[in-house]
Amino acid sequence: MTTQTSSILLIYTGGTIGMIKDSETGSLKNFNFNDLLTYIPELNLLDCRIDTQSFEAPIDSSNMEPVYWQQLVSIIENQYDHFDGFVVLHGSDTMSYTASAVSFMLENLAKPVIFTGSQLPIGDLRTDAKENLITSIQLAALKKDNSAVIKEVGLYFEYKLYRANRTTKINAEHFEAFTSLNYPALAQSGVNLSVDYNALLVPTGKPLLVHKALEPKILLLKMFPGITQQMVTHLLDVKMFKGLVIETYGTGNVTTKSWFIAALKKVVDSGIPVVNVTQCSGGSVVMGHYQTSVALKNMGIISGKDITTEAALTKLMYLLATDDLPLDFKTLFETPLRGEMS
Ligand code: ASP
Repeated sequence: MTTQTSSILLIYTGGTIGMIKDSETGSLKNFNFNDLLTYIPELNLLDCRIDTQSFEAPIDSSNMEPVYWQQLVSIIENQYDHFDGFVVLHGSDTMSYTASAVSFMLENLAKPVIFTGSQLPIGDLRTDAKENLITSIQLAALKKDNSAVIKEVGLYFEYKLYRANRTTKINAEHFEAFTSLNYPALAQSGVNLSVDYNALLVPTGKPLLVHKALEPKILLLKMFPGITQQMVTHLLDVKMFKGLVIETYGTGNVTTKSWFIAALKKVVDSGIPVVNVTQCSGGSVVMGHYQTSVALKNMGIISGKDITTEAALTKLMYLLATDDLPLDFKTLFETPLRGEMS
């Protein structure tokens, strides 16, 4: 394995990783991304060419919106033939959503797109930004037999590279901010970079297809004990949304109260796809396993299996905006398209 002669495009969208403390006010501000090498001179030691491109107005990722995903995907599309790999610097708060969306938007990807960020700003003495950034570049530059090792959208944070659409942010304090409970890490960084070749997505070998259309009218409903009929009826106004994700208990269970089942049935009967995902961080939906999910199975609700909520929402946005689906919506959603479910 080697990182030689690779060319990497670093794309800065915003977030802590690109920030320094203003010496006068003490508040965090974005540094000029073109000055990256000043802050991380170690990048000069990497045996690859690094170019940088920044969003015109970098954003805190809490302000992330599908329009920025389209912007990001356009940058990758325009530069796809000019670079061996891409590293996207992003705030950690919504990184799993963006990275999941990008995985669906880039069909037949054959190059690495690695998302990373940090918990502490790059200018901080104890920053995690340097390791995250340097190793992400190395992973994006990894080649074997003259071909990229990683050919999918990954997320690197605190010594682990994950499949991006399997990740969730789980900690606002620890450097280990992300996890992927339903899929193993693709690579780990220790004394050496060790890649789990069996876990990597096998590329299709077809030309890259970029999908920029996304349906934003999606609703997420999280179950909780005490949820009221009044709230659910108000939210599930079928004129207002095109797709619904319900975050259920355990293996896909909900209250069996008749008003709740009737409210969901009304949504399904109006032709709106409803996806069942578990609010557990790990494990899978198995509808019909308990009496409390039989009605959902019988009315044709889609099983999200072991997909994350982040991937379910973005997969819905992607599929609802796609014309001429090769299979019916339920079958297609229940099929892994980018390794997002088992
Ligand atoms: N609020 C920041 C963001 O998500 C946190 C971070 O950069 O990690 O943009």
